[in-house]
Formats: sequence, structure tokens, C-alpha cells
Amino acid sequence: MNIHEYQAKQIFQKYGVPTPKGIIAHSVEEAVANAEELGGPVWVVKAQIHAGGRGLGGGVKLAKSIDEVKKYADEILGMTLVTHQTGPEGKLVQKIYIEDGADIKDELYLSVVLDRKTEMPLIMASTEGGMDIETVAEETPEKIVTIPVDPAIGFQGFHGRELAFGLGITDKLEQRSIIKFAQKLYKLYMENDAEMIEINPLVKTGAGDFIALDGKMGFDNSALGRQPQIAEMRDLAEEDADELEAAKYGLSYVALDGEIGCMVNGAGLAMGTMDTINHMGGTPANFLDVGGSANAETVAKGFEIILKNPKVKAIFVNIFGGIVRCDRIANGIIEATKITDVNVPVIVRLDGTNAPEASEILKNANIANLIVGDDLGDGARKAVEAAAKA
Ligand code: GDP
Ligand code: MN
Repeated sequence: MNIHEYQAKQIFQKYGVPTPKGIIAHSVEEAVANAEELGGPVWVVKAQIHAGGRGLGGGVKLAKSIDEVKKYADEILGMTLVTHQTGPEGKLVQKIYIEDGADIKDELYLSVVLDRKTEMPLIMASTEGGMDIETVAEETPEKIVTIPVDPAIGFQGFHGRELAFGLGITDKLEQRSIIKFAQKLYKLYMENDAEMIEINPLVKTGAGDFIALDGKMGFDNSALGRQPQIAEMRDLAEEDADELEAAKYGLSYVALDGEIGCMVNGAGLAMGTMDTINHMGGTPANFLDVGGSANAETVAKGFEIILKNPKVKAIFVNIFGGIVRCDRIANGIIEATKITDVNVPVIVRLDGTNAPEASEILKNANIANLIVGDDLGDGARKAVEAAAKA
């Protein structure tokens, strides 16, 4: 789960990580009132969406008067902001953050991410702040320092010194201040079950202070149960509507780019099904795990969500009847085709308990567009063929 910049900065402040002062606004009037309360003389008006690259897309503006705050707030609120992270459809801006302007001398980069290879939090830093870190990694990888921190020993002095040297900070006071900054950041990363914190840019001010000018945070969804204060920060408006709808019915759905809709029980089988479709020369349109209890209602909902994607040319249902018998699933699928109007070929492969009976039921149902697959390979091949014909 990701949160907004203004929320990340609330957490930063709680831990003593310096950030500019700011107040969230939902309307132009609120934006102006916030700016007056902050006092100026310079403000930054920032679109709050769960995507980076807002600056380049016109979602971050420096205002030098209350009139300018008003003008930019009016422009940014309600705009559909397109950045390299939103995709071409962009994201609607519903909140803006009004912040004190900062005196920027240097823009650095600092993040803490989970490194799955070393199974440790990894501190990443660079002197190339304000740029996309992916670009820096590609063009000038030597400008990124990476410091793994073993959670068993935590953040130590030597980690901090490595960071300061890596960023080329030679002044003693500045060294101490960046080390403290990173120490607090590591602490808040661990205590909040974060998966990612990115500060880009981390700014050195004219006075030599380090402040977080931007803040991005992502959290481990499995930990939200013990982090109620983080769970509360969830903004459903920022999440994929189809995935949310699917989750309501216990389905885990992720849209992909291909043409064959997939409905499978179990995440592992779903991955295997997608691989097999690829192997047969097709491309999956989605990942969909219907979970342990595939019944008429969940299957119907699954069809509905898959078919919202206009790229889908065929649906491959691959279900293993372990706890649920295949004959019941077959009847569920037939029921589901009555509930939801399925206008593309559906290839069904059922295996497990009562699979032969299920196959009979499906064949006798005489539903146009319903094709039975004998095994995983056969089903995937038939799905690829059906999609190619469509
Ligand atoms: P992002 O584009 O979504 O990553 O949004 P950022 O919060 O990083 O803002 C984009 C850019 O706006 C920063 O890299 C800064 O160069 C600039 N910016 C943000 N806040 C200030 C500020 O207080 N003063 C000045 N002069 N520039 C700012
Ligand atoms: Mn940024």
C-alpha cells in the first residue's frame, strides 16, 4: 500500500526527519487559507497523487504571492495529471499540499528499500537528486551508493559514515546531520513496516540543513493489521478500481497486457497457467486467483471483471478441484454464464475430484462458445487458438 507525500511527511515529522511545513487542501479556498497560515513569502503548490514525476507534468508549482497560490491551486486541483508513472490516462488530482518554499542549494537522493536478494533493508543514496533514480542507475551507476543494513544489528555508525562519504559530504557538522537524518529514516522504516521510502530530492539548504523536500512511502500489506495508523492512510481513490472490486469478492486480480483472460484457483496455478499460455504462443490478459471456493457467484464475478478489459478475446478457466468437486464447479460455470453475458469463447479445464463427470456436464450443457480442455496444455492451446480466430 502506498500513501501520499503529505502523509509520508507527517510520519517524517513524527520521527524528527526535517521537512518543510505544509498543510493539505481540498479546495482553492483552503489552499489560500493554508498559504496565509504558513506565512510565505514563497509557497509550493503540490498535487497529491500516488505517482512520481509530478513536477515535470505540471503538478508542482512555486508561488511567490497569495494570488499565485490561488492561480496554481485552481489549475492543479481537478486536473488530470499525466506523468511517466501514471500511464497515458493520468490521475485526477483531488488534493493539493501547500508547503513553505525551501532555499535549495543541493538536490540529493536518499531511499530505503527492501532488497529481496540480501533480504535486508538497503539504503540507497546519490548526489543526483531530482532525477529519476532509474535513469541515474542506467547512465551513471557509479553515482549511487548502496548500503545494506542487517536488521539484526540495525543502523550503525559505520553505515552512516559510508553514506556521508558516498555523498561526498566532508563538513563535520553536515556529516553528523546527514547521519542523524538517515538513522531516523531507518528507524521509521522498521517501526512502520515500510517496504520503501524514497526522498527525491533530499535538499541541502543554503544554511546547510538537510530536509526532505519530497516523500514517497510504500508498506507491506501483510503488516497493515498491526499498523492501524498506516492502514487508515489508505486512499482508495488512488487504487485500481477493478482490483478493489475483485477484492470485495475475495478474488485477487491484476490486469496485464495480453488477450487471454485467465480464471484460476490458487496463485501458484495461476502463475503456471500464465506461463503455459505464453508457452503456447499467447499472452495473458490478467492474473486472477478465485481462491479456494470457486462457486457460481465468484466465477460470474470473475467473468464480469475479466470482460471489463476490452482486449480479452478468450477466457481460459483452469481450476483444480481439490476441496471443491469438479462437477460442482462445472455447474457453477454454467450458472455463471447465465448470470454474466460472456461474449467470447470460454475454454474450461477442470482436474481433480470428479473431473470426468465435470467434463460430461460441460459437454452436455450445449453452450455455444464453451470449449472443454482435456489438460493444461490442451486447454491453453485451445485458448490461444480461439483468441487468434477472434
Ligand atoms: P515529483 O516531481 O513528483 O518527484 O515532485 P517533487 O516533490 O520532487 O518536486 C519536483 C521538483 O520541484 C523538485 O525536484 C524541486 O526541484 C522542485 N521543488 C519542490 N519544492 C520546492 C521548493 O520548495 N522550492 C523550489 N525552488 N523548488 C521546489
Ligand atoms: Mn520527487
